[in-house]
Amino acid sequence: MAKIQMKTPLVEMDGDEMTRIIWKEIKDILLLPYIDLKTEYYDLGLVHRNETDDQVTVDSANATKKYGVAVKCATITPNAARMPEYNLKEMWKSPNGTIRAILDGTVFRTPILVKGITPYIPTWTKPITIARHAYGDVYKNVEMKCPAGSRAELVLTDKDGNESRETIYNFECDGVIQGVHNKSKSIESFARSVFNFALDVKQDVWFATKDTISKKYDHTFKDIFAEVFEKDYKAKFEAAGIEYFYTLIDDAVARVIRSNGGYIWACKNYDGDVMSDMVATAYGSLAMMTSVLVSPDGVYEYEAAHGTVQRHYYKHLKGEETSTNSVATLFAWTGALRKRGELDQLPELIAFADKLEKATIQTIEDGVMTGDLYLLSKLENKKKVNTEDFLYAVDERLKKLL
Ligand code: NAP
Ligand code: MG
Repeated sequence: MAKIQMKTPLVEMDGDEMTRIIWKEIKDILLLPYIDLKTEYYDLGLVHRNETDDQVTVDSANATKKYGVAVKCATITPNAARMPEYNLKEMWKSPNGTIRAILDGTVFRTPILVKGITPYIPTWTKPITIARHAYGDVYKNVEMKCPAGSRAELVLTDKDGNESRETIYNFECDGVIQGVHNKSKSIESFARSVFNFALDVKQDVWFATKDTISKKYDHTFKDIFAEVFEKDYKAKFEAAGIEYFYTLIDDAVARVIRSNGGYIWACKNYDGDVMSDMVATAYGSLAMMTSVLVSPDGVYEYEAAHGTVQRHYYKHLKGEETSTNSVATLFAWTGALRKRGELDQLPELIAFADKLEKATIQTIEDGVMTGDLYLLSKLENKKKVNTEDFLYAVDERLKKLL
């Protein structure tokens, strides 16, 4: 069979530890035999980030802007323990943070459902995608402790130097305050990313804030979403047969639990942080979740939601067998290949991505799975396999589908 051709290269961001091992295996076993794979390769492994003073991360993000689609392996965010381990010049920043800042995107996380693994919420028969706003609020806060007898005020100085003031509280006892902010531009980008993604996957959007209590702050989020929707998306949503639904955050939480899933839940930064962990846990595992960063101008970066699985890597280095789940990394590749196929009008590449995903799900539903899923699956004929054998089992099924 002739290899599937590509037009534009994918931006390939290699990473660290166990996921770096899996990265190469996925390419060798499941991609290179079938695709004339075109990538522009950036090594975001910590060794090379350190060698380049982290310039490689910036370069890879700029390449993503240029080409439009990237696929990223999980990477180490260094902490104190990594300094001697990798002999680092500096405690380099989180690559995901750097890339997100350059692309100004929203992260969409969707669980991958398979038979045999039932969500803790049994009504959730379809995936819920969480879209988390990644700028501001409590993540860029300013805080102070307030001793008894102090007065806290909010002061805003306009461009001409005029002040407006509001008293926050006169403290009769000790207390605390915090200042948070957001930017209309960032909220608008968030809204556009969410609406574009919804049109891409043809699913409804739910958005919620606490605008009844926070009449200016949260209400601004509600208003900007409504304006952007009315102006640029209403007609497109009608044509696609999907809806935008706004409600209060407490009402949203209650409805989410009662729902069957199958929609995008857009969350403010803090809500998204908390709710994405709840949703991921309820559906089973971070290794069974897709994650994609979408910028407001339509640039896509696909990744796995989990980390570099350090504990498994150390076992691997000792020569012990590992059973690490490669599904999230595999789906990062299929997501990126499919998107490249759509942008370049390559139906063969799109079909390949679909079939590879199908083969992966079939493998697990046939009872062949890695240790993490083996613990969760209710299938009777289930069998635990090692990291590599799982990929060979997928390849067997892929060959039949091709
Ligand atoms: P982790 O890689 O998410 O793994 C934590 C634990 O979760 C593992 O030890 C394993 O549990 C389980 N697990 C996660 N992914 C799995 C998979 N694919 N298959 C099977 N089990 C899986 O977090 P970590 O080991 O604490 O962090 C390692 C590094 O990842 C850190 O340096 C952190 O900075 C980085 N990180 C990167 C990203 C990213 O680039 N997207 C995200 C988060 C963390 P058992 O040990 O019980 O088997
Ligand atoms: Mg969290």
